[in-house]
Amino acid sequence: MMAVLLPIAILLLAQYRSFADLESKTRAAVQEDLRQTLQSLSRRIVERAEALAAETLGGIDPADVEQERFDRIADRLSAIRQSHPETDLAFVVIHCSCREKNFALFATPEAVRRIDHDQFKRNPVVQTVIETYENAALLRAAAGSNHKAMFEQSHCPVLLGEKIESPSVFVFAPISKADGKGYIGFAGMTLKARYIREQLLPQATSGLLSGAGADSAPIVSVLDENDREVYSSGSGLSRHEIRLPLSPVLRQWKMGIGYRNTTIEALARGQFRQNLLLVGVAIALLLTGLILALRATTREMKLVEAKTTFVSNVSHELKTPLALIRLFAETLELGRVRSSEEAHEYYRIINRESRRLTRLINNILDFSRIEAGRRPYQFAETDVAEVVSEALQIYEYQMANAGFETRTDIQPELPPALIDREALAQAVLNLLDNAVRYSDQVKRIEVSVCARGGDIAIEVTDQGVGIPRSEHQRIFEKFYRVGAGLVHNTRGSGLGLAIVKHIVEAHRGRVTVDSAPGKGSRFTILLPIVRSEASVASHEPLNPGAAMGTSAAGAANTANAANTASAANTASAANTGGYSVAENPHH
Ligand code: ADP
Repeated sequence: MMAVLLPIAILLLAQYRSFADLESKTRAAVQEDLRQTLQSLSRRIVERAEALAAETLGGIDPADVEQERFDRIADRLSAIRQSHPETDLAFVVIHCSCREKNFALFATPEAVRRIDHDQFKRNPVVQTVIETYENAALLRAAAGSNHKAMFEQSHCPVLLGEKIESPSVFVFAPISKADGKGYIGFAGMTLKARYIREQLLPQATSGLLSGAGADSAPIVSVLDENDREVYSSGSGLSRHEIRLPLSPVLRQWKMGIGYRNTTIEALARGQFRQNLLLVGVAIALLLTGLILALRATTREMKLVEAKTTFVSNVSHELKTPLALIRLFAETLELGRVRSSEEAHEYYRIINRESRRLTRLINNILDFSRIEAGRRPYQFAETDVAEVVSEALQIYEYQMANAGFETRTDIQPELPPALIDREALAQAVLNLLDNAVRYSDQVKRIEVSVCARGGDIAIEVTDQGVGIPRSEHQRIFEKFYRVGAGLVHNTRGSGLGLAIVKHIVEAHRGRVTVDSAPGKGSRFTILLPIVRSEASVASHEPLNPGAAMGTSAAGAANTANAANTASAANTASAANTGGYSVAENPHH
């Protein structure tokens, strides 16, 4: 057992450590996965903002700007504002030192306003927009990014006035010179905070967050510069496992990601527990298998041991009567008898011992037929009392000889039962034989037959050594004998009761024992009473072909209503099984 338990314990320990290691790796892997999700979200937002910039600001013709075709630029800016309601402000600012005149155009919901060169330097709106643009350019340079568009968030009241939601998101696109060498200014627009909350963020998030199920998908939320939640892809977010700035487009805001009502730790722990549970179950199964295998082996070993004792017991059982028969037969043959009483006594011994041999051999033969599943039964509606009386008659002589007092109590006019006379007689004889063999000082045997409930009860009671309660079940097992020597010195094969049980069960009956050490034993055979004519034909032994303790199927028996066997031929050589030893009734 230790040889198995120790490796299992080591295996369990190794598994535990590897699962613990796996748990921390799982945590790190999940965190990395969430980080990448956030980075993808950030990329998607940039892509959308850039696409918007290209679609809108990209339509401003640098040639119009360079040649100061204000009307065309103003039209373009108005068109942007109209076709893209998500923009608050659209503008073009030209501020290159290479030019004589700089200018700016702002399209607000109300109108397009132009700031010419002479007001350019003094106009706070223009100056603030230029500062914001320069900030955005610096941020882009610092991030080492090569995005075409530039972004910045601003709270500046000069620029935004009352009507514009705060903070505003600026998207800039530089305007290159007509010759493509350098820039002369920039175009730009601001995005409404509502558009960002209700369109840009949901669109960028959609399809990005997936999990094994709706509940296991991660949730993204966006916080503003005051850590107020601006957007969340779902409800019930337990905490931010990873939090990153939403740069470059919304650099003052943060995005965070986590799970609904759970954390990475809880998920990893759950996984750890599940793995451990699986290993636990596997080990439990392994141990159960082991215990079952051990039990089977122990049972097998016990059976082998029982068989060995059986062989030695049987040899002794055979030898003793044979030796006696030979001794007295020789004595008689040589005429060494002093009186006719002595001769009679010798005949009696020879007779008794030959009967003993007969029963033993019959039991062994019967047992081998039962084991092979070939014990045939010939059922017929019979008076049980008659069969029991005949069995008693057969055994009477022996009992009287051994000094036994026999009492019989047979209820008259018992209803018939479907029985195999020969088999039932054998079962009763086995019980009587046991009663004789396991009696000590008080040599009294009582046999009764009566109707009890729906059964006919045959009881064989002795005042012998008795059987401990713990052995009541096992005595019916093949080869089983109660702890030899400890309880009694009687030799035996351990087959008698196993055969009784098989015979009784083939009759759909039961055999029970009521006994205690020193208090004698009562064995009861219960056989069902025949209820109707029809049942005669349908009766078949409970398990006619089953071998004792094996599942070998044997020949099925046909119910035979013919009452052919008499008490005498029940016990005499039966030709049904092909072999049996004759035991003549004593008269
Ligand atoms: P055997 O008698 O050949 O050993 P059995 O199958 O007839 O085999 O009986 C099994 C065991 O049950 C016996 O070894 C004996 O210990 C116990 N036993 C059976 N009948 C009696 C009885 N009437 N009184 C006491 N013990 C009994």
